[in-house]
Amino acid sequence: MNNRIRFSFWYVLGAMLLISALQSLFGSPGVNKISYAEFLKMVDAGNIASVTISEDRLTAKEKGAGDQSKPGAGARVYLVNRVPDPDLVKLLKEKGVNFEGKVQNTFLNTFIFGWVLPIGLMIAVWSLIMRRMGGGGAGVMAFGKAKARIYAEGDTKVTFQDVAGAEEAKDELQEVVEFLKDPERYSRLGGRIPKGLLMVGAPGTGKTLLAKAVAGEAKVPFYSISGSGFVEMFVGVGASRVRDLFAQATKNAPCIIFIDEIDALGRARGANMMGGNDEREQTLNQLLAEMDGFETNKGVIILAATNRPEILDPALLRAGRFDRHVLVDKPDIDGREAILNVHAREVTLGPDVDLRVIAARTPGLVGADLANLVNEAALLAARNGKEEVEMDDLEKAVDRVMAGLEKKSRVMSPKEKAIVAYHEVGHALTAESLETSDPVHKVSIVPRGLGALGYTLQLPTEDRYLMTRTELKDRLAVLLGGRVAEEIIFGDISTGAQNDLMRATDIARSMVKEYGMSDKLGLVTFERERRPMFLDTADFGRGKDYSDDTARIIDREVDQLIKDSHQRVHSILEGRRAALERAAKVLLDKEVLDGDQFREIIGAEKTESQDQDQNQNQDQN
Ligand code: ADP
Ligand code: ZN
Repeated sequence: MNNRIRFSFWYVLGAMLLISALQSLFGSPGVNKISYAEFLKMVDAGNIASVTISEDRLTAKEKGAGDQSKPGAGARVYLVNRVPDPDLVKLLKEKGVNFEGKVQNTFLNTFIFGWVLPIGLMIAVWSLIMRRMGGGGAGVMAFGKAKARIYAEGDTKVTFQDVAGAEEAKDELQEVVEFLKDPERYSRLGGRIPKGLLMVGAPGTGKTLLAKAVAGEAKVPFYSISGSGFVEMFVGVGASRVRDLFAQATKNAPCIIFIDEIDALGRARGANMMGGNDEREQTLNQLLAEMDGFETNKGVIILAATNRPEILDPALLRAGRFDRHVLVDKPDIDGREAILNVHAREVTLGPDVDLRVIAARTPGLVGADLANLVNEAALLAARNGKEEVEMDDLEKAVDRVMAGLEKKSRVMSPKEKAIVAYHEVGHALTAESLETSDPVHKVSIVPRGLGALGYTLQLPTEDRYLMTRTELKDRLAVLLGGRVAEEIIFGDISTGAQNDLMRATDIARSMVKEYGMSDKLGLVTFERERRPMFLDTADFGRGKDYSDDTARIIDREVDQLIKDSHQRVHSILEGRRAALERAAKVLLDKEVLDGDQFREIIGAEKTESQDQDQNQNQDQN
């Protein structure tokens, strides 16, 4: 029930009580109850002046000195229970009694007794119970302020033990746990803790579970709310809900606020050109204001989850808001085995079960899918009257779950997997073969996010402020490496390289147009300012400030750069074809390789620095 409805509900109840009190105070003076027989007698005797006939009773007014201002002396009124009497009207006509029909207003009665009283009672009992359970306030939604979509849990009973395979995310969140356990000690020591952490990962990878686990580990209350809930609401409700949420949370600090699907709420403003969604914008503004308004040392941490970080309003990601990101990856084979183990605790497994085999059969599945898989196997076993879940049940469950996901095209076929493996090794091998290129940190064919099927992660050895032409050309080469590897091995190319080609074209174009790195065009820059970073609608209709001839030359130069680069990568990879095949085979098997493993396989000795900084350079497929 929302605030407004509750508000008017109490109003109506009050007004009705008032009305009935007034009625009983001032209503009908000197009312007498008489029987129908007596009434007929009085009519016969000519003592009745008028009768009002309603569904179940008659109200008869006596003849006589009709001075209404003096009740006792005025006409008396008789109440008569009505008897179905077809002759009544005839009789009244005969005696010249004035009569009228009246539909009795029973609505008020039914309303009060049928609705108001029972509901009022229920609310009273409920609030009593809630107050009883109250105590620390944790887990209680304040009465009269209860919001259907704010969920509060005093103790989530989830720990990091329940979250398997997300070790990196857990490591990052451990700090938050330590802080929540004792905020004061932490801030006394001068630790700077972020206000907001954004968890990024595909649906079902366990973001909600992780947030709950943080609350459970730190033993603090957990408030959650879903971004999509705001969108359909009336203007102003979302904002006030956010305000209430923060008010409650601050009161019960230390605690965690979890905002699921924050992308529904925090989509970049202005991205919708046909006039945005007012409610969403107001709610988002309120959220930003609240986040800016409180201080972290109170012990409120906001965790948010999204699977589409790229559409978020940049204002949300600014320092002091969600400036820290936790990647919740899809699990690799070890992760999947661990997750299966967690969920297998709830069922009895037969001796023949090997969860490693199941994990190997389920690339691309996330925690939620695997939980579902174990459940499906348990159901199958139960249906067949077995005492334990056997390998056979699990295998069948795999088939069933995978088939369901294949329909949604979330699972790769072995052929696709092979293509992705060669593609990624192509990137990585090119990177390792070039002088200026950053060392490979990780190669993976575990699908990640929505678009990317695999990725190669390079870490720079030093901060870069300037890039030379050689470096840019090398970067171009690395981007093309994936595509070229596909050509060499399969003699065919896939759609998977689209993002690579887009980025390669961007680099080549910038080299020609902005950095004056083309021999033909020379030291001329054709781009006045950098392209807008975020959805700048004002950019529409800005014309180019060079001639069509120049445009043609630019296009040709860009094309040439890419062609040269392609040729270069081709000869590099052809030259190391054996290494390419070796690494791809291992990658297919292990799904993830770190930089050192990769270098060992291809037989190189370039070392990787450990310094991690934001200039991570990802080649997402
Ligand atoms: P998300 O919020 O990322 O969409 P959830 O946290 O809601 O995913 O995950 C749904 C369910 O999937 C969880 O309740 C849990 O049973 C299971 N699950 C997901 N990830 C894991 C994991 N890493 N370990 C164990 N169970 C998991
Ligand atoms: Zn690629």
